[in-house]
Amino acid sequence: MQKKHKVLTAIDNTWGTPYFLKPIKLGFDMSIVSATKYYSGHSDVMGGSLAVNKKVFPKVKAAEKITGLRLGPDDAYLITRGLRTLDVRLDRHGENAKKVAEFLSKFKNIKLLYPYKKDSYNFRMWKKYYSGASGLMGLKIKCKNINSVRKFVNSLKLFGYGYSWGGFESLVLHQEYRETGNRKFLNLAKDEHLVRLHIGLEDPNDLINDLKKAVKFIK
Ligand SMILES: *Cc1c(COP(=O)(O)O)cnc(C)c1O
Repeated sequence: MQKKHKVLTAIDNTWGTPYFLKPIKLGFDMSIVSATKYYSGHSDVMGGSLAVNKKVFPKVKAAEKITGLRLGPDDAYLITRGLRTLDVRLDRHGENAKKVAEFLSKFKNIKLLYPYKKDSYNFRMWKKYYSGASGLMGLKIKCKNINSVRKFVNSLKLFGYGYSWGGFESLVLHQEYRETGNRKFLNLAKDEHLVRLHIGLEDPNDLINDLKKAVKFIK
């Protein structure tokens, strides 16, 4: 389809990273990854990478000359240092996330947006293209009282509250706004709420115990 209409294709591969997904091999022209996340792995850097095929390379080169965007040397150092342990960390993020997902799957009011078992959300698509899953997952929570979702989020002790995931630590974020600018999240009903978890490298049993105490607040 995109070939027929000569449309160039790009994918944001930040969630899977090239360790779990190889977009150029799959036929994408460009693959963008935020190095702020898993590449550095410690939430102390800002940067990104762009991998392209031969057809797009001259265009990127020209744009790069015009924009003059450069990565800082300290950031470059931390990103290349982080890359050395990318595979080990991602395997652990995935293992931990799977354990947390299995625990959370017991709650009828929570629908997991994470490909951890056969009948889970987007599992077939994920299985077809990815060799693993990272630590980021969505929780669609069904409940009447939004304050109880806030209480769930705020009572977590081992999860920081924050936006920029991909580091060693676990994070939680309550997506309170259904639409921000031109970005529309899932079609949520009035009694459905979206919470994002990033599962870090901590002991998964500690994370599960933390969630076990907090999940009781959801009503
Ligand atoms: C965070 C994020 C980005 C942007 O990364 P920054 O390096 O923080 O600008 C892009 N894509 C996805 C999927 C992200 O999660």
